[in-house]
Amino acid sequence: MNYYIIPVTALMQNCCIVWCKLTSEAVIVDPGGNADNIKNKLQELNINPLKILITHGHLDHVGASIAISKFYKIPILGPQKFDKFLLEHMLNQSKHINKSSNFTTHTWLEDGDKIEVGSLTFEVIHCPGHTPGHIVYFYRKGRILISGDVIFNGSIGRSDFPRSNRQHLINSIKIKLLPLGDDITFIPGHGSISTLGYERIHNTFLN
Ligand SMILES: [Zn+2]
Repeated sequence: MNYYIIPVTALMQNCCIVWCKLTSEAVIVDPGGNADNIKNKLQELNINPLKILITHGHLDHVGASIAISKFYKIPILGPQKFDKFLLEHMLNQSKHINKSSNFTTHTWLEDGDKIEVGSLTFEVIHCPGHTPGHIVYFYRKGRILISGDVIFNGSIGRSDFPRSNRQHLINSIKIKLLPLGDDITFIPGHGSISTLGYERIHNTFLN
């Protein structure tokens, strides 16, 4: 598996392009904005996007999804359906950040779903707390987790949004993510990558 991170929007959200080295088939995780930058990078890498994956319904994670979906004629998958209320209110969010049409997904995802990309398989793990329908994507064989706004290098997701829940967030991290293994490298929605092992010991929000 290869990946490339493109920070998008004023919030520097990590849009992550992931592809199979054998087939050059790719997924775009959380294309939150700057669609042209994402398209240019796909062209430069000479890879073939098949799907868009969404971790949760905040605008900085979904803002360019419709544009990219239409351009490549590819489906948008995720988040989990409890984030439907956020996607329905996208126009309200967009007033504050940038222009966006109302967002919709093609397929809601659930805990345990599997996404295939070439020879890669991503497992969907439902991690509510930052938003109720937040999901993360786990490539077990490669020990890589794309974690959205659940856990960050030295921090955790905000829980002061509508229908956020701090205890649910902590439970998601401690019960669902940390047991995946200390060796797991995660790519967060903002900031630099880290490992679950490092955060288990050093992340003060988890004490
Ligand atoms: Zn968020």
